[in-house]
Amino acid sequence: MKRIYLDYASTTPADPEVIREMLPYFSGIYGNPSSVHAFGREARKVVDSVREKVARFIGAKPHEIVFTSGGTESDNTAVKGITYAARGQGDHIITSSIEHRAVLNPAGFLERQGFPVTRVPVDSTGMVDPDAVLKAITPKTILISIMHANNEIGTMQPLAEIGAIAHERGIPFHTDAVQTFGHIPFNVDELKVDLLSASAHKLYGPKGVGIMYIRSGTKIGRFMHGGAQEKGRRASTHNVPGIAGLGKAIEIAERDMQSEMRTLTAFQDKLISNIVGSIKRTKLNGHPEKRLPGNVNISFRNVQGERLLKSLDEAGIACSTGSACNASNTGPSHVLTAIGLPLDLISGSLRITLGKYVKEEEIDCVLDILPRLVRKMSSFVEYPE
Ligand code: PLP
Repeated sequence: MKRIYLDYASTTPADPEVIREMLPYFSGIYGNPSSVHAFGREARKVVDSVREKVARFIGAKPHEIVFTSGGTESDNTAVKGITYAARGQGDHIITSSIEHRAVLNPAGFLERQGFPVTRVPVDSTGMVDPDAVLKAITPKTILISIMHANNEIGTMQPLAEIGAIAHERGIPFHTDAVQTFGHIPFNVDELKVDLLSASAHKLYGPKGVGIMYIRSGTKIGRFMHGGAQEKGRRASTHNVPGIAGLGKAIEIAERDMQSEMRTLTAFQDKLISNIVGSIKRTKLNGHPEKRLPGNVNISFRNVQGERLLKSLDEAGIACSTGSACNASNTGPSHVLTAIGLPLDLISGSLRITLGKYVKEEEIDCVLDILPRLVRKMSSFVEYPE
């Protein structure tokens, strides 16, 4: 059976060019970049050059880039590092109700230690109102953390407006850009952010490598204690093959991003209009326009998401659901709950996320199979309208 992968927001396959780039750094150029000898210097060269590449890519300076193990570590570092560094000056954290768990859970951890947290609500499209952020600010606010695009529903947030509010008051502003880095062009000055998290495995790079942008002058505590790597900001030996792979992934993104955005938007539009047109009583979740190219999140009435996911999987199609039980969730999606979706629509939700290896015939195949599966399933259960 030919399998179709439509879960790119979860992870992406590494590009063969990325893998080729990484290979020499496993056994040929294997020195520790912190060593002073020639082996170390050789490895340091790639770490330094990728640092410059990342910085150029987002309009930052090389010393503002720190390599981490992924999006989760970068998010944790931002939330905990800023909060601990600000002890004595304030204690209040503002974030949104639809952040990834990599932000919500460290915020919750800090809350249990006595740091008050405000989770700003979103509207029915998943949008944060900058005015609500403004109203949540107190003299004790020490961090605002709002994601760039949501991983479940793809809604893009008005970061520049929120950043302007934060900057006027001298409050550090962090964004989780794990879903947008390498997929849509942006620049840290335009977004008005002081800290930014990203992860290589979402842009056809390797798993286990992330970056964190920290604007010069931002006071942040150490999160990983140990050696003096990354100018003392993040201990542990660099993942040199991973960093080399990230560098290649960025080079490819610079080259292909615009055409990928166009193709994914066209496929996204085709999926949404055909699904909504051919299946009765569906609901598109997320913002109708301000959404990440390639994100399709739709709820079907009278359908159980897990059953639909299983049937699609049996047909060779891999997607995800915000319904009660899936591999990473133990309850209904907090994002779909936050946008006010009733439980039956949360239960019947399906997320399709596209990437550069998706072909048009695969979209057509989904459009052939999905309506038939939904019709078959919804004929079993009837909920009141
Ligand atoms: N933030 C967002 C928005 C994500 O989608 C993810 C991954 O799904 C993460 C953070 C965590 O990134 P990583 O898997 O690199 O730890």
